[in-house]
Amino acid sequence: MKALVKHAPGDGNLDILDVAEPPCGDNQVKVEIAFCGVCGTDIHVMHDTYRNFPPVILGHEFAGTVVEMGRSVTGVTRGERVAVLGATAVTCGKCQYCRSGNFVFCKDRRGMGHGVNGAFTRYVVVRPDQLYRVPAGFSLEEAAISEPFAAAVQAVTEVTRVRIGETALISGPGPIGLLCLKLLVAEGVKTIVAGAPGDGDRLEAARRFGADVVVNLGERKLLDAVMDETGGAGVDVALECAGHPSSVRGCLEALRPLGRYTQVAICGREVELPIDQLLYKQVTLSGSFCYTAKTWDRMMKIYAQGRIRLNDLISVKLPISEWRTAFDLCLDKKALKVLMYPED
Ligand SMILES: [Zn+2]
Ligand SMILES: [Zn+2]
Repeated sequence: MKALVKHAPGDGNLDILDVAEPPCGDNQVKVEIAFCGVCGTDIHVMHDTYRNFPPVILGHEFAGTVVEMGRSVTGVTRGERVAVLGATAVTCGKCQYCRSGNFVFCKDRRGMGHGVNGAFTRYVVVRPDQLYRVPAGFSLEEAAISEPFAAAVQAVTEVTRVRIGETALISGPGPIGLLCLKLLVAEGVKTIVAGAPGDGDRLEAARRFGADVVVNLGERKLLDAVMDETGGAGVDVALECAGHPSSVRGCLEALRPLGRYTQVAICGREVELPIDQLLYKQVTLSGSFCYTAKTWDRMMKIYAQGRIRLNDLISVKLPISEWRTAFDLCLDKKALKVLMYPED
């Protein structure tokens, strides 16, 4: 089968190769991939700026159909449509984080798409506990966005615990910011979405998805917009989804006293903070990294209720041989989510 493989350490070393179809072990399930999303992490793996273990097939945001079950597997049937929790492919199962469900902090963890083979190919084999049934009526295209959506579900509903009546600032209208927006809109929270001048198309998307206020920072100062919209009070919560130092500062400035700040994006560098703002405003500063299995359960219930749809986040679908185009589109601020699909 064709696969997008990081075949050696270092910058680059990424190509479409012919690899053997993986055999399905007794305790495993084989899934035929329908779609796999391209994400910034894939580009970091390409450049070797994210930990990876070559040779490894890239791709960690995916959904597909069960095609085979090992003989010890029960409770899974052929033809079931599933999203796959790839981040838990390898964990120790014994440390305090594994035992409390916070497996993302396990020292031995290796996720699919960088630690072990991922989904920019036709077949993967996984454990049954990594499977999440996609509710009827929810497409596999949408389900392929489950991995980043789970990160948004944790950030909004579990870490920040945003409530109706509050005003939330989302700084950075990339895919994660827009996924957070969808949750906030569904919860009836007033939202302000801010983006850089180059984010015009994504800010347009934010408006379509129901943002109350959209701020193009090329045209208007964030603090002015926030104060106008909150009667001079400041926002209750700020979700930093841009991963940029000026956005970090903007979020802290925009918060009201006793507000909550959540770091959702990766900055990838050290950031200077107006740290006294934490003290004078008694701000709660949190980080949100990935999700737990519980988050994925909650996400499947959100899908089943049908109030949030993700189709309008998908801008392009390309075969894996066009990965260079897909990666470029992912870096281009015009695209929302780019999906790839297998080919023979
Ligand atoms: Zn990702
Ligand atoms: Zn562990």
